[in-house]
Amino acid sequence: MNASDLLTAKYNDTKDLTYDYAVLPWGATEPHNYHLPYLADCYLAHDVAIDAVAKAHERRGVRGMVLPFIPLGSQNPGQVGLPFCLHGRYETQKAILTDIVDSLIRQNIHKLIIVNGHGGNSFKNMIRDLAVDYPSFLIASADWFKIIPQKDYFDMPDDHAGELETSVLMHYRPELVDLSVAGDGTYTPFRIQTLREGVGWIPRNWSKVSQDTGIGCPHQSTAEKGKRYAAAVTDKLATFLIELTTEELYSSFRLS
Ligand SMILES: [Zn+2]
Repeated sequence: MNASDLLTAKYNDTKDLTYDYAVLPWGATEPHNYHLPYLADCYLAHDVAIDAVAKAHERRGVRGMVLPFIPLGSQNPGQVGLPFCLHGRYETQKAILTDIVDSLIRQNIHKLIIVNGHGGNSFKNMIRDLAVDYPSFLIASADWFKIIPQKDYFDMPDDHAGELETSVLMHYRPELVDLSVAGDGTYTPFRIQTLREGVGWIPRNWSKVSQDTGIGCPHQSTAEKGKRYAAAVTDKLATFLIELTTEELYSSFRLS
């Protein structure tokens, strides 16, 4: 049993322990090229969170609980029309987050770290709202795939279902990856120059961007690359968890 994984923990495992914080893996339900599962973003965020929480406990004795992953991600046009791609609206995501914060407060847990696994998710505005409504509650978010620069670990850049995501899932859950059916993940950039330059932003229409839904070539993925990257990510994420949950550090920026 793992008393820090709510997918498997029993009340008997948790009732006599004190938890310093909770972690909320947040993913999506969406096609990931042909070779990764719909829930890839959920599994990756969850598995990275489990390792980071374990490392934080080993290093400093702080205890966290990894909550069940949220499978509703914000989706782009062209993606949401594909079979079983599920779009979670801002309002829905905020309602979910609010109910979780509300529950944790009753249990005397006042820190929540979202480990995000889906590029389309953005929590900043709802975290600002909740910081106003729950001034003594700390919410942070971290995109696990941005914590460590991917270029030092992978040969091909990954945006969606490419070498990074594929390699890390091959490390954690090899039985869920079938590289033999993977598409090339080739994509069409915006025709408009200023959009390519990032002068402004619009959501990409996924059906026009990629044939196999992937953005980034997954063919050179290996479990070994994924293991190295996951180790670096979870080391750094563990440090973040320790720093946020160490009271003297936390008190320097708490809101009330
Ligand atoms: Zn993904």
